[in-house]
Amino acid sequence: MIELKNLTKVYGKGSKQATALSALSLSIKKGEIFGVIGHSGAGKSTLIRCINLLERPTQGEVWVDGVELTALRKHQLQVQRRKIGMIFQHFNLLSSATVYNNIAFPLRLAGTEGAEIERKVKELLFLVGLEEHWNKYPAELSGGQKQRVGIARALASDPDVLLCDEATSALDPQTTDSILRLLMDINTKFNLTIVLITHEMHVIQSICDRVAVIHGGGIVEQGEVAQVFLKP
Ligand code: ADP
Ligand code: ADP
Repeated sequence: MIELKNLTKVYGKGSKQATALSALSLSIKKGEIFGVIGHSGAGKSTLIRCINLLERPTQGEVWVDGVELTALRKHQLQVQRRKIGMIFQHFNLLSSATVYNNIAFPLRLAGTEGAEIERKVKELLFLVGLEEHWNKYPAELSGGQKQRVGIARALASDPDVLLCDEATSALDPQTTDSILRLLMDINTKFNLTIVLITHEMHVIQSICDRVAVIHGGGIVEQGEVAQVFLKP
């Protein structure tokens, strides 16, 4: 589902240059929950942001669902990006919009018809358990509820892939577990491919099928979670 081929990302120029990814290759299968773990500065955030080209790699190719995103023009890329949802550590909700309108936002951007928006938003509110909170603003919600809005918004365009950028790092352990359970439910229900980055081993061990350990912009180890982390 996702193929990263020889990705290199260099930030800045001249003496301020920093290599965040160095010829990194990775293959993620349809329907799996794939974790990327590493210390701060390892390149995790750059890696996940390269999958939907929020960050453009300096070199290398990004393929999602058989399409090379790195070869697309702007308009084609916008179309392909609807197949890739993303959630964030700090939720990135529109603070001046209600829960309902935050979830509806990508649908409106895509020009979806009104009755279909309403049907879809109600379905998503139910899926993430926020049907009673549809008219609240983000400031009135707990962290876990905000992330549920983030998940619903990310799913609005029926993506094949969900990218999770430290999605539970701002949450307490109990709330983290409830969000991880929701991600697992969604993975099963929609056969959605999930890629998550984290610095927390617990997150990897709770929900990931496979994991890559990243260090200094490269993968130092990868495989099934039990193999990578429970060696004798
Ligand atoms: P992680 O998510 O694992 O903490 P990042 O991908 O954020 O790692 O960062 C990898 C490296 O790239 C770090 O050395 C970081 O300082 C550098 N870096 C990240 N973003 C930028 C940027 N916008 N400009 C310059 N350097 C950056
Ligand atoms: P209408 O509901 O009259 O068709 P729009 O489609 O422009 O109006 O927007 C509907 C709702 O989406 C607005 O009430 C608003 O809450 C939200 N919205 C749209 N664009 C933005 C934006 N850029 N920032 C915050 N909220 C927005």
